[in-house]
Amino acid sequence: MTTDLDCLFCKINAGEIPAKMVLQTDKITAFLDINPQAPTHVLVIHKVHTASLSETEDPQVLLEVMQGVQAVAKKLSLTDYRVAINNGASAGQTVFHLHAHVLAGRKLEWPPG
Ligand code: AMP
Ligand code: ZN
Repeated sequence: MTTDLDCLFCKINAGEIPAKMVLQTDKITAFLDINPQAPTHVLVIHKVHTASLSETEDPQVLLEVMQGVQAVAKKLSLTDYRVAINNGASAGQTVFHLHAHVLAGRKLEWPPG
């Protein structure tokens, strides 16, 4: 399994840093965002470390992250929700381990800021 010893989300994957788990499989971890931007704000990460969407070479990782999003929505009975991936610092990425935000529970404006 590819991990980065200095990566916050790899540490959450490993259980070294606590997080409020939503679900975990052998492929992905889903947990509550520490600074929620909506009543429901879940982060879905893969067990494999890749820094960002554009640096992810294995399409299986992308598939499994999206399957993780679906599983979160099903588990939380979400019908309307937004999935966001910030790619690069100027797009708002602050943690460089690929993650999908799942936001729900309020009216979500478009376009986002
Ligand atoms: P991004 O800005 O797209 O890279 O998203 C990173 C997200 O990680 C932000 O929404 C943060 O609030 C969230 N975050 C940072 N540290 C933690 C943590 N220890 N546990 C849960 N979420 C975190
Ligand atoms: Zn990582």
